[in-house]
Amino acid sequence: MATATTVMEPNVKISATKLLINGQWVNSASGKTFPSINPSTGEELARIAEADAADVDKAVSAARAAFEKGPWRKMTASQRGNLMFKLADLIEKNLDELAQLEALDNGKPYSVARGADLPLTIACYRYYAGWADKLQGKTIPVNGNYFTYTKHEPVGVVAQIIPWNFPLLMQAWKLGPALATGCTVVMKPAEQTPLSALRVGELALEAGFPPGVLNLLPGYGPTAGAALARHMDVDKVAFTGSTEVGHLVMKAAAESNLKRVTLELGGKSPNIVFADADMDKAIEGSHFALFFNQGQCCCAGSRTFVEDKVYDEFVERSAARAKKRTVGNPFDKNTEQGPQVDQEQFTKVMGYIDSGKQQAKLMAGGNRVGDKGFFIEPTVFSDVKDDMKIAQEEIFGPVMSILRFKDISEVVERANKSLYGLAAAVWTQDITKAHAIADNVRAGTVWVNCYDVFDAAAPFGGFKQSGIGRELGEYGLANYTEVKTVTIKL
Ligand code: NAP
Ligand code: MG
Repeated sequence: MATATTVMEPNVKISATKLLINGQWVNSASGKTFPSINPSTGEELARIAEADAADVDKAVSAARAAFEKGPWRKMTASQRGNLMFKLADLIEKNLDELAQLEALDNGKPYSVARGADLPLTIACYRYYAGWADKLQGKTIPVNGNYFTYTKHEPVGVVAQIIPWNFPLLMQAWKLGPALATGCTVVMKPAEQTPLSALRVGELALEAGFPPGVLNLLPGYGPTAGAALARHMDVDKVAFTGSTEVGHLVMKAAAESNLKRVTLELGGKSPNIVFADADMDKAIEGSHFALFFNQGQCCCAGSRTFVEDKVYDEFVERSAARAKKRTVGNPFDKNTEQGPQVDQEQFTKVMGYIDSGKQQAKLMAGGNRVGDKGFFIEPTVFSDVKDDMKIAQEEIFGPVMSILRFKDISEVVERANKSLYGLAAAVWTQDITKAHAIADNVRAGTVWVNCYDVFDAAAPFGGFKQSGIGRELGEYGLANYTEVKTVTIKL
């Protein structure tokens, strides 16, 4: 229950609401604006300049100029790294303010933004800042009297389109490797959550990034986003969001200039609980795997497979845990779950709950919370079958679907029967079973007796229609470089 002592009053001033182009905060060419909404109340937080194709053209030419002839191009790799370290320091200095913006604009609990999103964001900038002067090519022993070496050069002007579920962190995952390698960027934050991304733009200017290196274009996907994806002078597009839009981005790249494409898309990740698991940890871990971030995680453990022998116990205890989950004001420190990000997501998730009620057994939740904002009860379905809609499609909300399995070969086969392959987890005390799952499940990340463990050094990305390429770690750098082979006659 919220009491006066556990609730904090947000006290941030929203300063950045325009487009950042060539180091200047400007209105959009059309003069249009759009509202950023607080999903806890449905009320407007600020009006934001709305970018469209004309602004994309301006930002791309600023990024091109910065890439070809600006000071960015001439500075040393370690100077580039130092600017990134400075940005990380400034984010740390303004951590409280940024955590508040994140909670206001996205709806996630302030305590989570402070304790998870911000530290991971800062660590990501520092991790990639360290890479800036460690990008090396090779010397190659070719036949003949030649000296051959490779260089890893920045791919050029990069468009980055990011989602709303982790606004600051997704910005860091994208900017980290792009800036470390010396690219210049035009980024479109999600229309639902532009505030923190724009504030980071202010901090980047304060850190001293030269004009045109980082351009920020808040606006809508089908207009600004699509204009970026099909732009003839963008060398690479990096996108995170739905698989549906991933197809569109790749198509736009193919139909324009064959810009490089990396995609981080949806998932329907299997979370597999064996009877020999530590049941307390498996239940709490599976709850976290699904409900963290209001269920709005691309890697959410959204197909909870539980072994026959412990199925009934697991269902009962998971439902009890879900009923205890505290939903409400993101600024109450007891809150575990805030609202869904917007009306559209709320309606979509409620639709899946209706479908689940018709096909499976409702064990917890199933309703809206309150009549203001986009809050949904933590919901648990048991007796879920593979062919049900709630077992196949990405719900992106606080809805747990628990499926029953008998043995390991069966569960591997069923886990892999999905167009997605982003993540998977297994809960067991048997190392052989853990390895069997890790080896045989087709997913970019496998967690054993844990979930959602992220580190800037560990790569993340999808098999199958969950994406193309890997973000984070050394692997993430390859998306932002071209390899050049130089051969010299001796
Ligand atoms: P989305 O449409 O894929 O949005 C992701 C980003 O792409 C946003 O910045 C969006 O702009 C932009 N976009 C939309 N259409 C575009 C286009 N034609 N060309 C270029 N960019 C475009 O996702 P959503 O509508 O917010 O959410 C829908 C579903 O996507 C969710 O229910 C969830 O299943 C999935 N999703 C996955 C992730 C993930 O981390 N993988 C994140 C968010 C959502 P706008 O700001 O106008 O939307
Ligand atoms: Mg918002």
